[in-house]
Amino acid sequence: MVGNVPVGGDAPITVQTMTNTKTTDVAATVEQIQRIERVGADIVRVSVPTMEAAEAFKFIKQQTRIPIVADIHFDYRIALKVAEYGADCLRINPGNIGNEQRVRSVVDCARDLNIPIRIGVNGGSLEKDIQEKYGEPTPEALVESAMRHVEYLDRLDFQNFKVSVKASDVFLAVGAYRLLARQIEQPLHLGITEAGGFRAGAVKSAVGLGMLLADGIGDTIRISLAADPVEEIKVGFDILKSLRIRSRGINFIACPSCSRQEFDVIATVNALEERLEDIITPMDVSIIGCVVNGPGEALVSDLGLAGAANKSAFYEGGLRVDRLDNKDLIPILERRIRARAAMLDPANQILVGKD
Ligand code: SF4
Repeated sequence: MVGNVPVGGDAPITVQTMTNTKTTDVAATVEQIQRIERVGADIVRVSVPTMEAAEAFKFIKQQTRIPIVADIHFDYRIALKVAEYGADCLRINPGNIGNEQRVRSVVDCARDLNIPIRIGVNGGSLEKDIQEKYGEPTPEALVESAMRHVEYLDRLDFQNFKVSVKASDVFLAVGAYRLLARQIEQPLHLGITEAGGFRAGAVKSAVGLGMLLADGIGDTIRISLAADPVEEIKVGFDILKSLRIRSRGINFIACPSCSRQEFDVIATVNALEERLEDIITPMDVSIIGCVVNGPGEALVSDLGLAGAANKSAFYEGGLRVDRLDNKDLIPILERRIRARAAMLDPANQILVGKD
């Protein structure tokens, strides 16, 4: 359990991200966590590099609801402090803490407060002797590093942990996770680290995590993008949605660029995605530019639009129920989709107004 969120076993695969505000700036960090929460994040990680940040962490915890993983690299005193302030998980590698006594104090504290630990190995920061042994980061090298940290916890009979073996290279990360999955029973936190900018990073993450998740490997995911953390959550859910592992919000089925489109499909879908990102109920909505595929896609969607000259056909539950003016599609579709979402689940907000 990370706070009240289960991770591992039969629990849904969780989606997490990390704040990029200065943790000492409590207001900015809380505001970012709330934005992250609004797009459906299950867990958020906050870096706690100093004692000053640990003090700020206390106030951040008081003002937020989502479980928070405190990211600590070396200083065991910071780990003890954030545990006292309500951290829901400690991201710390036991082998980096220092002497046995310090490791024991962190582990005892985590045990007493029932806080899990995440071991996080990264291809870019392997121990010197492991680097020398393998010559370069390899799956075996990443797993050997992870298992060293696992052994520390094993010696202290502490089993409440999860592990990540991230790398920026897709094959390296996938190989390491596959190897690790055969060696431990604890949950795995998946990620392709430092994956790059929004587009390239999303693609790399989808390929790498897709290979693993399709094989049943992985319990929680973080998409690492050089972008707003909110985008990491959206990409994470898109990956789970594509694999039919976990659905949240609207799954748009839409045409690619094509000269037969009777209205601007790309602008319409982009605008709707942005306007409707607060919808939590899983729904399929097809926005198709012409009659070639429009009626067929509408048949298997909750709501569908099939482009036609001037007025496009609108479908609900596979039946054509209306014709919508192409000049005013975005606000009308937003209202129709919200109404349907509210019907499926009253937790979704309805936008006041008429077509
Ligand atoms: S459904 Fe029509 S508009 Fe859409 S891609 Fe096919 S031919 Fe083009």
